[in-house]
Amino acid sequence: MQIPGHIDPVITGTVSLRGGNRIDLVGLSRDAIRATLEEAGLDVKAAKLRAKQIWHWIYHRGVTEFDEMTDIAKSMRPWLTDRFIVGRPTVVTAQVSNDGTRKWLLSASDGQEYEMVFIPDADRGTLCISSQVGCTLNCRFCHTGTMKLVRNLTAGEIVGQVLLARDALGEWPKGTMASTADLDDEDDETGHYTADGRILTNIVLMGMGEPLYNFDEVKGAMKIVMDGDGLALSRRRITLSTSGVVPMMARAGDEIGVNLAVSLHAVTKEIRDEIVPLNRKYGIEDLLQACADYPGANNARRITFEYVMLKDKNDSDEDAHELVRLIKKYKLPAKVNLIPFNPWPGANYECSTPNRVRSFSNIVFAHGISAPIRTPRGRDIMAACGQLKSESKKLSRAELDRIADEKQAALG
Ligand code: SAH
Ligand code: SF4
Repeated sequence: MQIPGHIDPVITGTVSLRGGNRIDLVGLSRDAIRATLEEAGLDVKAAKLRAKQIWHWIYHRGVTEFDEMTDIAKSMRPWLTDRFIVGRPTVVTAQVSNDGTRKWLLSASDGQEYEMVFIPDADRGTLCISSQVGCTLNCRFCHTGTMKLVRNLTAGEIVGQVLLARDALGEWPKGTMASTADLDDEDDETGHYTADGRILTNIVLMGMGEPLYNFDEVKGAMKIVMDGDGLALSRRRITLSTSGVVPMMARAGDEIGVNLAVSLHAVTKEIRDEIVPLNRKYGIEDLLQACADYPGANNARRITFEYVMLKDKNDSDEDAHELVRLIKKYKLPAKVNLIPFNPWPGANYECSTPNRVRSFSNIVFAHGISAPIRTPRGRDIMAACGQLKSESKKLSRAELDRIADEKQAALG
């Protein structure tokens, strides 16, 4: 069916061949870049200085070519180019919704595909990023959940989504690097970057995958995104959504420190066991206790409970009352996000009626808990919550080796 306003993919990308055997520096910590440079032959002092400069160019300026890193001695740049790259995921398709939401299908260097979505609003621009190709959990209402887990994304692939979004939004600062001593004349850009007026202001880990099942890479990526000399996004503007991986929640709060969203979706064991199968492992009471213990949650930084509205499944007035009771029982600083179910081909659920959603929302609000109804965004391009999916399949080792060989051959 052709949906009104649907725009077919506007970009068809090609596989990037620039990597070869060179090391991609994106996703490495500042320290790891330094160590990598040392390993390649720089002495300790030089490696430290170059790492600092490279970091700034990658994450503050969005530069991908060493030749443009104008405070690095000209003679050194080819040496870097021979050994390293500043990579980007390859764009397979890019689509724009009639409401301005943008979705990109991206491909990693091994050909695995994952999606990323940008949602512009009046007062913010939110990038929804993926943490895995596929998902091990199969929440019954989620399109991603119909895929098997193909693999975890690396920190570089996670942070690469943010870099690519800034490329696509034209958001890298222009201007000179006044802080550098040996600035070459050829840097003739004018204008200065200010942190105000950003287009990409918020990040949500709500794309494909369960971020707490890929903890280390997600943590590494978020540390980079939050680094003051770079993308410099405040942890208050980043939200990690989990379907309820209870044992990892405290670490997420302690070690990453971003806002927490929890995909609750049901208030009884019976229904949650059915629609979020992870509930059979970590039940509602344990999950809410982990929320109560979440480091850093308070009234100024509330936990968001996501609640997908499924017709005749979890949307009764009794469910709303039970939700209020549970939130009060655990004294949670909480807000509830009611998400109208976003359909996808083959889904076995229907969205609750608007009246039902409103009634549910009113009950929760009446008890002093904010429960806005989320306006679906990007449904026409299958970019809304729970609609993301890629064609990637888990390949055997032999198939992966064959693809790697072909790539190597293509590189000559
Ligand atoms: N795996 C993580 C984060 C990604 S999903 C998690 O589950 O929390 C982002 C949100 O969209 C989750 O709350 C998810 O449950 C919800 N969602 C999934 N499928 C949906 C659908 N078809 N309609 C509406 N929301 C959906
Ligand atoms: Fe995985 Fe989240 Fe979808 Fe559940 S809702 S299948 S955890 S991506």
